[in-house]
Amino acid sequence: MSADQKPIPFARPSITKEDRHAVLSVLDGPILTHGPRCSAFEDSFIQTVGGGYAVSTSSCTAALHLFGIAKGFGPGDEIIAPAMSHVATAHAIEVTGARPVFVDCEEDGNIDRTGLEKAVTPATKAIYLVHFLGIPAAMKEIMEIAGRRNLPVLEDCAVGLGSTVNGNHVGLIGDAGCFSFYPAKHITAAEGGMFVTRDKELADSIRQYRGFHYDRTLIERKLPGIYDVTGCGVNYRMSELQAALGGSQLSRLKSVLDSRRRNFEQLSSLLETIDGVSIVRPIRPSDQQSYYTMCVVLDGDRKRRDGMLRFLSDQAIGTSVHYPHPIPRLRYYREKYGYDAAEFPNAERIADRSLDLPVGPHISEDDVARIASVFREALRRT
Ligand SMILES: *Cc1c(COP(=O)(O)O)cnc(C)c1O
Repeated sequence: MSADQKPIPFARPSITKEDRHAVLSVLDGPILTHGPRCSAFEDSFIQTVGGGYAVSTSSCTAALHLFGIAKGFGPGDEIIAPAMSHVATAHAIEVTGARPVFVDCEEDGNIDRTGLEKAVTPATKAIYLVHFLGIPAAMKEIMEIAGRRNLPVLEDCAVGLGSTVNGNHVGLIGDAGCFSFYPAKHITAAEGGMFVTRDKELADSIRQYRGFHYDRTLIERKLPGIYDVTGCGVNYRMSELQAALGGSQLSRLKSVLDSRRRNFEQLSSLLETIDGVSIVRPIRPSDQQSYYTMCVVLDGDRKRRDGMLRFLSDQAIGTSVHYPHPIPRLRYYREKYGYDAAEFPNAERIADRSLDLPVGPHISEDDVARIASVFREALRRT
Protein backbone atom coordinates (compact mmCIF):
# COMPACT_ATOMS: atom_id res chain seq x y z
CA MET A 1 0.00 0.00 0.00
CA SER A 2 1.50 3.35 -0.90
CA ALA A 3 0.42 6.95 -0.79
CA ASP A 4 0.79 7.38 -4.53
CA GLN A 5 -2.38 5.37 -5.09
CA LYS A 6 -5.37 7.16 -6.56
CA PRO A 7 -7.03 9.21 -3.79
CA ILE A 8 -10.50 8.09 -2.71
CA PRO A 9 -12.34 11.22 -1.53
CA PHE A 10 -14.97 10.98 1.21
CA ALA A 11 -17.55 12.49 -1.14
CA ARG A 12 -17.54 13.76 -4.68
CA PRO A 13 -20.50 15.31 -6.46
CA SER A 14 -21.40 13.53 -9.67
CA ILE A 15 -22.31 15.97 -12.45
CA THR A 16 -23.55 14.42 -15.69
CA LYS A 17 -24.01 15.79 -19.19
CA GLU A 18 -27.76 16.03 -18.44
CA ASP A 19 -27.06 18.07 -15.28
CA ARG A 20 -24.91 20.51 -17.28
CA HIS A 21 -27.53 20.78 -19.97
CA ALA A 22 -30.28 21.47 -17.41
CA VAL A 23 -28.27 24.30 -15.82
CA LEU A 24 -27.19 25.84 -19.13
CA SER A 25 -30.75 25.86 -20.43
CA VAL A 26 -31.71 28.14 -17.51
CA LEU A 27 -29.08 30.63 -18.65
CA ASP A 28 -30.62 30.64 -22.13
CA GLY A 29 -33.96 31.80 -20.72
CA PRO A 30 -35.26 34.91 -18.96
CA ILE A 31 -36.02 33.50 -15.48
CA LEU A 32 -33.06 33.00 -13.16
CA THR A 33 -34.72 32.55 -9.79
CA HIS A 34 -37.84 31.13 -8.10
CA GLY A 35 -39.55 30.23 -11.37
CA PRO A 36 -40.84 27.10 -13.10
CA ARG A 37 -37.78 24.94 -12.35
CA CYS A 38 -38.22 25.53 -8.62
CA SER A 39 -41.87 24.49 -8.88
CA ALA A 40 -40.97 21.43 -10.95
CA PHE A 41 -38.24 20.43 -8.49
CA GLU A 42 -40.68 20.85 -5.57
CA ASP A 43 -43.27 18.71 -7.38
CA SER A 44 -40.92 15.87 -8.24
CA PHE A 45 -39.34 15.98 -4.78
CA ILE A 46 -42.65 15.64 -2.96
CA GLN A 47 -43.66 12.79 -5.29
CA THR A 48 -40.39 11.05 -4.53
CA VAL A 49 -40.88 11.23 -0.76
CA GLY A 50 -44.54 10.34 -0.91
CA GLY A 51 -46.95 13.27 -0.93
CA GLY A 52 -47.66 16.52 0.83
CA TYR A 53 -46.14 19.91 0.12
CA ALA A 54 -42.57 20.91 -0.68
CA VAL A 55 -41.03 24.38 -0.52
CA SER A 56 -37.56 24.87 -2.01
CA THR A 57 -35.12 26.99 -0.02
CA SER A 58 -31.58 28.33 -0.29
CA SER A 59 -30.27 25.67 2.12
CA CYS A 60 -31.38 23.10 4.67
CA THR A 61 -30.40 25.52 7.43
CA ALA A 62 -32.70 28.14 5.87
CA ALA A 63 -35.55 25.59 5.80
CA LEU A 64 -34.97 24.70 9.48
CA HIS A 65 -34.91 28.40 10.38
CA LEU A 66 -38.12 29.10 8.44
CA PHE A 67 -39.99 26.60 10.63
CA GLY A 68 -39.04 28.57 13.77
CA ILE A 69 -39.89 31.88 12.09
CA ALA A 70 -43.29 30.61 10.93
CA LYS A 71 -44.07 29.19 14.39
CA GLY A 72 -43.01 32.44 16.06
CA PHE A 73 -40.47 30.84 18.43
CA GLY A 74 -38.45 33.38 20.39
CA PRO A 75 -36.90 34.40 23.71
CA GLY A 76 -38.32 32.48 26.66
CA ASP A 77 -39.11 29.42 24.55
CA GLU A 78 -37.26 26.13 24.88
CA ILE A 79 -36.81 23.73 22.01
CA ILE A 80 -35.46 20.22 22.43
CA ALA A 81 -32.42 19.61 20.22
CA PRO A 82 -30.20 16.59 19.58
CA ALA A 83 -26.70 16.90 21.09
CA MET A 84 -25.40 14.80 18.22
CA SER A 85 -26.13 16.55 14.94
CA HIS A 86 -24.81 19.13 12.53
CA VAL A 87 -24.64 22.46 14.32
CA ALA A 88 -27.31 23.74 11.92
CA THR A 89 -30.03 21.88 13.87
CA ALA A 90 -29.18 23.93 16.98
CA HIS A 91 -28.33 27.20 15.20
CA ALA A 92 -31.81 27.15 13.62
CA ILE A 93 -33.20 27.36 17.16
CA GLU A 94 -30.61 29.77 18.53
CA VAL A 95 -31.13 32.40 15.81
CA THR A 96 -34.81 32.68 16.71
CA GLY A 97 -33.88 33.66 20.28
CA ALA A 98 -35.33 30.43 21.69
CA ARG A 99 -33.07 28.21 23.79
CA PRO A 100 -31.95 24.80 22.54
CA VAL A 101 -32.18 22.16 25.28
CA PHE A 102 -29.76 19.43 24.30
CA VAL A 103 -30.46 15.73 24.75
CA ASP A 104 -27.87 12.94 24.47
CA CYS A 105 -28.08 10.29 21.74
CA GLU A 106 -28.54 6.54 21.88
CA GLU A 107 -26.17 3.94 20.49
CA ASP A 108 -27.34 4.63 16.91
CA GLY A 109 -26.54 8.34 17.23
CA ASN A 110 -30.20 9.34 17.44
CA ILE A 111 -31.87 11.33 20.22
CA ASP A 112 -32.33 9.41 23.46
CA ARG A 113 -36.02 8.79 24.11
CA THR A 114 -35.85 8.79 27.90
CA GLY A 115 -33.70 11.92 27.92
CA LEU A 116 -36.11 13.56 25.52
CA GLU A 117 -39.11 12.99 27.74
CA LYS A 118 -37.21 14.28 30.79
CA ALA A 119 -36.12 17.45 28.98
CA VAL A 120 -39.66 18.67 28.36
CA THR A 121 -40.70 21.61 30.59
CA PRO A 122 -43.68 24.00 30.50
CA ALA A 123 -41.51 26.32 28.33
CA THR A 124 -40.92 23.62 25.66
CA LYS A 125 -42.37 24.67 22.31
CA ALA A 126 -41.10 22.00 19.90
CA ILE A 127 -38.88 18.99 19.36
CA TYR A 128 -36.17 19.22 16.70
CA LEU A 129 -34.43 15.99 15.81
CA VAL A 130 -32.02 14.64 13.25
CA HIS A 131 -31.94 11.29 11.49
CA PHE A 132 -28.32 10.67 12.39
CA LEU A 133 -26.36 9.96 9.19
CA GLY A 134 -29.66 9.00 7.57
CA ILE A 135 -30.44 6.35 10.19
CA PRO A 136 -34.04 7.01 11.26
CA ALA A 137 -34.66 8.26 14.79
CA ALA A 138 -37.17 6.31 16.93
CA MET A 139 -40.13 8.08 15.32
CA LYS A 140 -42.89 5.95 16.86
CA GLU A 141 -41.92 6.73 20.46
CA ILE A 142 -40.89 10.31 19.69
CA MET A 143 -44.27 11.03 18.09
CA GLU A 144 -45.99 9.49 21.13
CA ILE A 145 -44.04 11.75 23.51
CA ALA A 146 -44.74 14.78 21.28
CA GLY A 147 -48.42 13.85 21.01
CA ARG A 148 -48.83 13.63 24.80
CA ARG A 149 -47.45 17.16 25.15
CA ASN A 150 -48.90 18.54 21.94
CA LEU A 151 -45.44 19.56 20.66
CA PRO A 152 -44.58 19.96 16.96
CA VAL A 153 -41.72 17.80 15.67
CA LEU A 154 -39.24 19.06 13.08
CA GLU A 155 -37.07 16.44 11.37
CA ASP A 156 -33.61 17.39 10.10
CA CYS A 157 -33.36 15.04 7.11
CA ALA A 158 -30.29 16.67 5.56
CA VAL A 159 -28.75 13.26 4.83
CA GLY A 160 -31.99 11.28 5.09
CA LEU A 161 -33.01 11.18 1.44
CA GLY A 162 -34.07 7.54 1.00
CA SER A 163 -34.60 6.89 4.74
CA THR A 164 -37.94 5.39 5.72
CA VAL A 165 -39.79 4.06 8.76
CA ASN A 166 -42.28 1.30 7.90
CA GLY A 167 -42.11 2.54 4.32
CA ASN A 168 -42.91 6.16 5.25
CA HIS A 169 -40.26 8.64 4.17
CA VAL A 170 -38.60 10.65 6.93
CA GLY A 171 -39.56 14.33 6.94
CA LEU A 172 -43.25 13.48 6.61
CA ILE A 173 -43.60 11.59 9.91
CA GLY A 174 -43.28 14.62 12.17
CA ASP A 175 -44.83 18.02 11.41
CA ALA A 176 -42.17 18.94 8.85
CA GLY A 177 -38.80 17.87 7.48
CA CYS A 178 -35.84 19.66 5.93
CA PHE A 179 -33.44 18.27 3.32
CA SER A 180 -30.06 19.53 2.09
CA PHE A 181 -28.56 19.68 -1.40
CA TYR A 182 -25.06 20.67 -0.30
CA PRO A 183 -22.46 18.97 -2.54
CA ALA A 184 -21.58 16.17 -0.09
CA LYS A 185 -25.22 15.01 0.29
CA HIS A 186 -27.13 12.37 -1.69
CA ILE A 187 -28.05 14.81 -4.44
CA THR A 188 -26.78 18.33 -4.89
CA ALA A 189 -27.95 21.71 -6.14
CA ALA A 190 -24.54 23.23 -5.18
CA GLU A 191 -26.42 24.78 -2.26
CA GLY A 192 -30.08 24.31 -1.55
CA GLY A 193 -32.72 22.83 0.69
CA MET A 194 -36.29 21.54 0.72
CA PHE A 195 -38.94 21.99 3.38
CA VAL A 196 -41.62 19.28 3.33
CA THR A 197 -44.85 18.86 5.27
CA ARG A 198 -48.31 17.29 4.98
CA ASP A 199 -49.81 20.49 6.44
CA LYS A 200 -50.96 22.80 3.65
CA GLU A 201 -51.36 25.82 5.91
CA LEU A 202 -47.82 25.41 7.23
CA ALA A 203 -46.44 25.03 3.69
CA ASP A 204 -48.23 28.22 2.57
CA SER A 205 -46.90 30.08 5.57
CA ILE A 206 -43.33 28.86 4.97
CA ARG A 207 -43.63 29.93 1.32
CA GLN A 208 -44.60 33.46 2.39
CA TYR A 209 -41.84 33.82 4.97
CA ARG A 210 -39.35 32.48 2.41
CA GLY A 211 -39.97 35.45 0.09
CA PHE A 212 -40.28 38.66 2.17
CA HIS A 213 -43.86 37.78 3.20
CA TYR A 214 -45.34 39.56 0.20
CA ASP A 215 -49.11 39.31 0.13
CA ARG A 216 -49.12 38.20 -3.53
CA THR A 217 -46.71 36.50 -5.90
CA LEU A 218 -45.56 37.94 -9.23
CA ILE A 219 -48.36 36.23 -11.15
CA GLU A 220 -50.99 37.28 -8.61
CA ARG A 221 -50.18 40.98 -9.08
CA LYS A 222 -52.83 42.76 -11.15
CA LEU A 223 -50.63 45.83 -11.45
CA PRO A 224 -46.93 45.12 -11.93
CA GLY A 225 -44.78 46.07 -8.97
CA ILE A 226 -47.72 46.58 -6.61
CA TYR A 227 -47.86 44.45 -3.48
CA ASP A 228 -48.23 44.72 0.28
CA VAL A 229 -46.25 42.95 3.01
CA THR A 230 -48.16 41.14 5.75
CA GLY A 231 -45.36 39.72 7.91
CA CYS A 232 -41.61 39.91 8.57
CA GLY A 233 -40.12 37.51 6.05
CA VAL A 234 -36.67 36.71 4.74
CA ASN A 235 -35.25 35.86 1.32
CA TYR A 236 -34.40 32.17 1.50
CA ARG A 237 -35.42 31.28 -2.07
CA MET A 238 -33.70 28.86 -4.40
CA SER A 239 -32.46 29.98 -7.80
CA GLU A 240 -33.53 28.37 -11.08
CA LEU A 241 -29.93 27.27 -11.67
CA GLN A 242 -29.96 25.33 -8.40
CA ALA A 243 -33.42 23.90 -9.02
CA ALA A 244 -32.44 22.74 -12.51
CA LEU A 245 -29.39 20.94 -11.11
CA GLY A 246 -31.30 19.50 -8.15
CA GLY A 247 -34.16 18.29 -10.35
CA SER A 248 -31.79 16.63 -12.78
CA GLN A 249 -29.93 14.92 -9.93
CA LEU A 250 -33.17 13.78 -8.31
CA SER A 251 -34.07 11.81 -11.43
CA ARG A 252 -31.03 9.57 -10.70
CA LEU A 253 -31.78 9.07 -7.01
CA LYS A 254 -32.62 5.38 -7.28
CA SER A 255 -29.29 4.47 -8.85
CA VAL A 256 -27.45 6.67 -6.33
CA LEU A 257 -29.14 4.88 -3.42
CA ASP A 258 -28.54 1.43 -4.98
CA SER A 259 -24.88 2.12 -5.39
CA ARG A 260 -24.55 3.51 -1.84
CA ARG A 261 -26.27 0.41 -0.45
CA ARG A 262 -24.02 -1.94 -2.46
CA ASN A 263 -20.87 -0.16 -1.28
CA PHE A 264 -22.09 -0.12 2.32
CA GLU A 265 -22.92 -3.83 2.29
CA GLN A 266 -19.64 -4.81 0.68
CA LEU A 267 -17.67 -2.68 3.13
CA SER A 268 -19.60 -3.90 6.17
CA SER A 269 -19.07 -7.54 5.15
CA LEU A 270 -15.33 -6.84 5.15
CA LEU A 271 -15.26 -4.99 8.49
CA GLU A 272 -18.04 -6.31 10.71
CA THR A 273 -16.12 -9.31 12.03
CA ILE A 274 -13.20 -7.23 13.35
CA ASP A 275 -12.98 -7.09 17.14
CA GLY A 276 -13.18 -3.63 18.66
CA VAL A 277 -14.97 -2.10 15.68
CA SER A 278 -18.69 -1.44 15.77
CA ILE A 279 -20.65 -0.22 12.76
CA VAL A 280 -23.48 2.24 13.49
CA ARG A 281 -26.68 0.88 11.94
CA PRO A 282 -30.45 1.09 12.35
CA ILE A 283 -31.53 -0.82 15.47
CA ARG A 284 -35.14 -1.47 14.40
CA PRO A 285 -36.19 -3.69 11.47
CA SER A 286 -38.87 -1.11 10.51
CA ASP A 287 -36.16 1.43 9.68
CA GLN A 288 -34.42 1.85 6.33
CA GLN A 289 -31.32 4.05 6.27
CA SER A 290 -29.99 6.18 3.41
CA TYR A 291 -26.39 4.87 3.45
CA TYR A 292 -24.83 8.29 3.72
CA THR A 293 -21.59 6.89 5.15
CA MET A 294 -20.28 4.03 7.25
CA CYS A 295 -19.72 5.28 10.78
CA VAL A 296 -17.46 2.97 12.79
CA VAL A 297 -16.93 3.35 16.53
CA LEU A 298 -13.51 2.16 17.71
CA ASP A 299 -12.23 0.90 21.02
CA GLY A 300 -9.77 3.26 22.66
CA ASP A 301 -9.67 7.01 23.04
CA ARG A 302 -9.72 10.12 20.88
CA LYS A 303 -5.96 9.94 20.35
CA ARG A 304 -6.26 6.52 18.79
CA ARG A 305 -9.14 7.61 16.54
CA ASP A 306 -7.16 10.65 15.43
CA GLY A 307 -4.21 8.36 14.67
CA MET A 308 -6.50 6.26 12.48
CA LEU A 309 -7.70 9.38 10.67
CA ARG A 310 -4.08 10.42 10.06
CA PHE A 311 -3.08 6.98 8.75
CA LEU A 312 -6.07 6.75 6.39
CA SER A 313 -5.42 10.28 5.16
CA ASP A 314 -1.74 9.47 4.51
CA GLN A 315 -2.93 6.53 2.41
CA ALA A 316 -5.22 8.87 0.41
CA ILE A 317 -8.46 7.46 1.84
CA GLY A 318 -11.00 10.21 2.49
CA THR A 319 -12.75 10.07 5.85
CA SER A 320 -14.97 12.30 7.90
CA VAL A 321 -16.18 12.58 11.49
CA HIS A 322 -19.84 13.17 12.31
CA TYR A 323 -19.56 15.07 14.46
CA PRO A 324 -16.25 16.19 15.95
CA HIS A 325 -18.08 17.55 19.03
CA PRO A 326 -21.49 17.12 20.58
CA ILE A 327 -23.12 20.48 19.75
CA PRO A 328 -23.22 21.65 23.41
CA ARG A 329 -19.42 21.08 23.56
CA LEU A 330 -18.79 23.51 20.67
CA ARG A 331 -17.26 26.71 22.01
CA TYR A 332 -20.20 28.98 21.26
CA TYR A 333 -22.70 26.74 23.07
CA ARG A 334 -20.28 25.74 25.85
CA GLU A 335 -19.56 29.37 26.73
CA LYS A 336 -23.18 30.41 26.53
CA TYR A 337 -24.90 27.52 28.35
CA GLY A 338 -22.07 25.59 30.05
CA TYR A 339 -21.23 21.96 29.30
CA ASP A 340 -21.25 18.86 31.48
CA ALA A 341 -19.74 15.90 29.64
CA ALA A 342 -21.45 13.50 32.05
CA GLU A 343 -24.82 14.45 30.55
CA PHE A 344 -23.78 13.32 27.07
CA PRO A 345 -21.88 10.00 27.37
CA ASN A 346 -23.11 8.53 24.06
CA ALA A 347 -22.54 11.71 22.07
CA GLU A 348 -19.04 11.95 23.59
CA ARG A 349 -18.31 8.36 22.62
CA ILE A 350 -19.32 8.87 18.98
CA ALA A 351 -17.63 12.28 18.68
CA ASP A 352 -14.33 11.08 20.13
CA ARG A 353 -14.11 7.47 18.97
CA SER A 354 -15.84 7.23 15.60
CA LEU A 355 -14.77 7.83 12.06
CA ASP A 356 -16.74 7.70 8.84
CA LEU A 357 -15.72 5.81 5.73
CA PRO A 358 -16.92 6.69 2.23
CA VAL A 359 -19.65 4.64 0.51
CA GLY A 360 -20.78 7.17 -2.14
CA PRO A 361 -21.45 6.32 -5.79
CA HIS A 362 -17.96 7.57 -6.72
CA ILE A 363 -16.50 4.44 -5.05
CA SER A 364 -15.84 1.27 -7.07
CA GLU A 365 -15.75 -2.31 -5.81
CA ASP A 366 -11.94 -2.18 -5.90
CA ASP A 367 -12.01 1.06 -3.91
CA VAL A 368 -14.13 -0.62 -1.21
CA ALA A 369 -11.62 -3.47 -1.00
CA ARG A 370 -8.76 -0.99 -0.67
CA ILE A 371 -10.58 1.05 2.00
CA ALA A 372 -11.11 -2.15 4.01
CA SER A 373 -7.52 -3.30 3.74
CA VAL A 374 -6.05 0.12 4.62
CA PHE A 375 -8.52 0.33 7.52
CA ARG A 376 -7.30 -3.06 8.85
CA GLU A 377 -3.71 -1.96 8.54
CA ALA A 378 -4.50 1.32 10.34
CA LEU A 379 -6.06 -0.68 13.21
CA ARG A 380 -2.94 -2.82 13.55
CA ARG A 381 -0.66 0.21 13.64
CA THR A 382 -2.51 2.51 16.00
C1 LIG B 1 -25.51 19.24 5.89
C2 LIG B 1 -26.39 19.26 7.05
C3 LIG B 1 -27.10 20.41 7.41
C4 LIG B 1 -26.90 21.73 6.72
O1 LIG B 1 -27.39 21.71 5.41
P1 LIG B 1 -27.16 23.01 4.49
O2 LIG B 1 -27.95 22.71 3.26
O3 LIG B 1 -25.69 23.09 4.22
O4 LIG B 1 -27.67 24.17 5.24
C5 LIG B 1 -27.98 20.36 8.48
N1 LIG B 1 -28.14 19.22 9.17
C6 LIG B 1 -27.48 18.09 8.88
C7 LIG B 1 -27.74 16.85 9.66
C8 LIG B 1 -26.57 18.07 7.81
O5 LIG B 1 -25.91 16.95 7.52
